[in-house]
Amino acid sequence: MLIGVDFGGTQVRAGIVEGGEVVRSTATPTRAGSGATEVLDTIASAVLALAAKPDAVGLAIPGEVNAEGRCWRLPNVPGFEGVHIAEELAQRLQCAIAVENDATTAALGERLYGHGREHPSFLMMTLGTGIGGGLVLGHQLYAGTNGFAAEVGHMKVDTSADAPLCACGQRGCVETFAGTRALLREYARYGGRATEVLSIAVSARRGQEAGQKTFEMMGSALGRLLANIQNLLDLNAVVFSGAISASFDLLEPYVREALRAHAFAPPLAEVPLLISELGERAGMIGAAHLTAL
Ligand SMILES: [Zn+2]
Repeated sequence: MLIGVDFGGTQVRAGIVEGGEVVRSTATPTRAGSGATEVLDTIASAVLALAAKPDAVGLAIPGEVNAEGRCWRLPNVPGFEGVHIAEELAQRLQCAIAVENDATTAALGERLYGHGREHPSFLMMTLGTGIGGGLVLGHQLYAGTNGFAAEVGHMKVDTSADAPLCACGQRGCVETFAGTRALLREYARYGGRATEVLSIAVSARRGQEAGQKTFEMMGSALGRLLANIQNLLDLNAVVFSGAISASFDLLEPYVREALRAHAFAPPLAEVPLLISELGERAGMIGAAHLTAL
């Protein structure tokens, strides 16, 4: 029995996974401020609620982890710096544990049961408050030497001295133009009022300037980023996931325009831009298959 856990900043979702399907799942609040020990207890309880004696558990985390399962840090869940997550969970669950970054895990799910079946080399981009990335090259997941590969949200699209400050401490990262906070800020600049991206999409779909300008900023930043990535990797596809996916048709023309303007050669700019086939299940499904890698 394969169990995948998607550990997010607000929810811990655990599921029994068979192939590309989640057959049963649970969702528990993360209580991110309660400290690493309590959060790890929550994760273990969520697994035990599904299986009293699990064989193996895969965990997707909202941050970086090395190959041994030691966490670098979780930007949205305090207290995890240096915590050996794999060891801590193995003690609680008495089974094999694999831990990986959530976007990388989603890329694994997509490789096995989504667009990865047709596209051997692709970038998975998770769009939300943070922008994550997972890379699959020649059907193989590529996590990097230290687990930091495809941190695409923090690639620079503005190198000017007064570029917007990012949550990571650097300036001009793509997240400062295409992350949720940036979108709400830009929408307000054009007189719109929203607390979530869905309202901005509604505005854009109605043809209102505030919504359209906000999507233009986001799409243009993503297109410039992808042009650089394409110049390096010449991928078969780019796959997007996250709440914004439902509005991707509004975004795509701006992404494509910037790609065409900045890519080294025309074929690089015509890379298929796709929506994840697994959607929000990609993390849980990918996590469940981590221990088989
Ligand atoms: Zn950044």
